[in-house]
Amino acid sequence: MAEFAPVPDFALGPEIPESGYHVTALGGGAYGITSGMVNTMFLVTRKGVVLVDAPLDLGETLLAGIEEVTPKPITHLIYGHAHADHIGAAHLLARDNLKIISHELTGRFMQEAHDDKRPLPNETFTGRRNELNIDGQRIILEYTGDWHQPGNLFIHLPEQKVLTAIDSFTVRNAPFFRLLFTPRVPAYFDAMDQMLDYDFETVVSGHMALFGTPEDVQTNREYLHDLRTAATEALREVDLGEAAAAAGVPENNQQARLKVWIDAVVARATELMPASWDKRLGGNDIFLPDNLNTVAWSVFMD
Ligand SMILES: [Zn+2]
Repeated sequence: MAEFAPVPDFALGPEIPESGYHVTALGGGAYGITSGMVNTMFLVTRKGVVLVDAPLDLGETLLAGIEEVTPKPITHLIYGHAHADHIGAAHLLARDNLKIISHELTGRFMQEAHDDKRPLPNETFTGRRNELNIDGQRIILEYTGDWHQPGNLFIHLPEQKVLTAIDSFTVRNAPFFRLLFTPRVPAYFDAMDQMLDYDFETVVSGHMALFGTPEDVQTNREYLHDLRTAATEALREVDLGEAAAAAGVPENNQQARLKVWIDAVVARATELMPASWDKRLGGNDIFLPDNLNTVAWSVFMD
């Protein structure tokens, strides 16, 4: 079996009880809820609950978690983006007059997905910004670029100083797999700067048990910078012909040569990454090669 470093204490969140969820008050009627694997937030207004997403791993326990806080009904559901792990339990909430709000691109993706577990939005917007006023509560939805999926939103509660940016990064942990499967690495890098432009105290980023702070976004930004520096230097040092010869790949097998080369680039970049990251982020040992591979290709091609 593969050996992994133990999860450092700082990367662990609260223990998840038998119930399968943990609710954290974020102030001003906003709450974070996590299953340990996924997280999201909801806002209690005078008349009801505005919920972001309905993650699969929370499922029914999402309703139990909200009921723990308020008996009010869910009146609005906002989709942060269209992926099933974050909204695949939405069918459990669907009922008449539930407003489901998303960016138009999210709605379009869902139409193509044909998944009855993800009910279609009934209110979409195009362009960059949509400011909602629900029961006197301001909720700002912004689409600043496809850092995770076309239509992905920043959801800002200016009064509560809460920013929800699902699948933007993982608090006190390295990003999952290939920078959380971003379709566009430069947009992903830009997203960290865009997040830091908001006025917020808490960030809800979609995975694991912790909610973060602007410092956590700053740390992820610094980590990305180090990934790019290491990948850039490794691309400079590692020669394709030499890597292929060292691995004994014949000259007529171009695809194997490319594979051996990028693996050598990632191996060299891994050596160049500051070792201190193991003490700053959980999961660095798990995801570093995938993340370096993604960043190296981007440096090479974008
Ligand atoms: Zn996603």
